[in-house]
Amino acid sequence: MKVVCVGAGPAGLYFAILAKRRDPSAEVCVLERNPEGVTYGWGVTFSDDVLDSLYAGDPESAARIRDDPASWGDQLVTLGDQAPAHLGGYGFAIGRHRLLEILAERAVELGVRISYRHQVEDLAEFADADLIVAADGANSAIRERYVERFGTQREAGRNHYIWLGTSKVFPEFRYAFEPTEAGWIWFYAYPFDHQTTTFIVECAPATWTGLGFDRLDPEQTKAALERIFARHLDGHPLLVQSRDQHMSPWLHFTWITNQAWYHGNLVLAGDAAHTTHFSIGNGTKLAIDDAIELDRQVGRQPDLDAAVAAYQQERIAAVGARQRIARASAAWFEDVEDFTERSPTRFAYSLRTRTDSSRPAPGGVPWLLHLATQSSLGRQGRRWLSAARRWRRNGQRGAAS
Ligand SMILES: Cc1cc2nc3c(=O)[nH]c(=O)nc-3n(C[C@H](O)[C@H](O)[C@H](O)COP(=O)(O)OP(=O)(O)OC[C@H]3O[C@@H](n4cnc5c(N)ncnc54)[C@H](O)[C@@H]3O)c2cc1C
Repeated sequence: MKVVCVGAGPAGLYFAILAKRRDPSAEVCVLERNPEGVTYGWGVTFSDDVLDSLYAGDPESAARIRDDPASWGDQLVTLGDQAPAHLGGYGFAIGRHRLLEILAERAVELGVRISYRHQVEDLAEFADADLIVAADGANSAIRERYVERFGTQREAGRNHYIWLGTSKVFPEFRYAFEPTEAGWIWFYAYPFDHQTTTFIVECAPATWTGLGFDRLDPEQTKAALERIFARHLDGHPLLVQSRDQHMSPWLHFTWITNQAWYHGNLVLAGDAAHTTHFSIGNGTKLAIDDAIELDRQVGRQPDLDAAVAAYQQERIAAVGARQRIARASAAWFEDVEDFTERSPTRFAYSLRTRTDSSRPAPGGVPWLLHLATQSSLGRQGRRWLSAARRWRRNGQRGAAS
């Protein structure tokens, strides 16, 4: 069998790993337009559920990913200069660069051929491939070529965002909302190694133009954001990963959906197939789950057409559910000014429950747990419970691997 994956992101690399593990005689190659070791973005978050998926797919790379990440044991929410509220919980993050390095190393160990600086322009070069996986990201040029067949829909999110880093290493996952004369602007930040924190800034269009970001170059943008968030940065700089020093580093999130995920032997996976808003930190997990499901179907169905059809059916349903959650989350951030008059504890509760589009009022057990999390004793209790849960899940994975 000959498999071609276009794009060495999580979807393309992970499918290549699984395909080669399942059938060592298969010829599997990954083609990536960037040079080796070059990628965009900072750290990505993931949960124990992602580690479970990774262990189920390939325990070797899962163990390397597990050993690498930063973790946090609380989430802090600040609203201007008021005392912070706490969300508790725990999670992990790993540098996107490091994640791809681990996956690429593992793929090569298994015998996958990765060809860097190879921009795929024309699928005719793969006429002899049995399966072509378009894992070339949200702006997939391959998908665009067959846009009618895939029934692709693109929709721009309302807010502006910018994906930055900082050398200030936050000990927890932090959300910080700052009032300005032009409206609220906020960041979410999480450490992903010992030196760097991911720092994503977001604001409404009126705030963005009101603060002059439509006229500032990347250096001026960075300086303005350092001033706005000075109380959190303690003198540390923000780090901009500029695609072009004259180009605005601000972006709009783009929602991508596809009615069909395959066309003949060409299959979409990862962000090429779907996007989920970064505020739920799920895109990498979905890319990996796509790879796992595609590999599972190819392995169990003798007929490739039936396999890709089953893959589409399974994943469209699963991803649709996550996209609805992500939409509720993105909508909460778009409406944030409806909540900023609340006390930090109530505001943080609203943030915690944002994926419930009914926007539940405080009440019941979840609210009582949230109140308990505001005390250091309550947080200590949560930390013990989390540590026990992590230990149990680690043990279960160890048994499985
Ligand atoms: C601000 C922000 C924060 C995020 N935070 C998180 C998070 O915390 N947790 C999380 O799980 N997810 C997060 N995500 C989402 C996550 O980054 C993506 O969902 C994930 O990278 C998708 O993987 P992929 O392999 O489908 O695509 P990508 O990672 O985009 O990889 C696609 C690859 O294809 C290559 N390529 C493109 N075109 C071609 C071509 N023609 N020929 C050859 N190669 C090509 C690209 O160079 C790229 O390497 C975040 C996204 C954003 C924007």
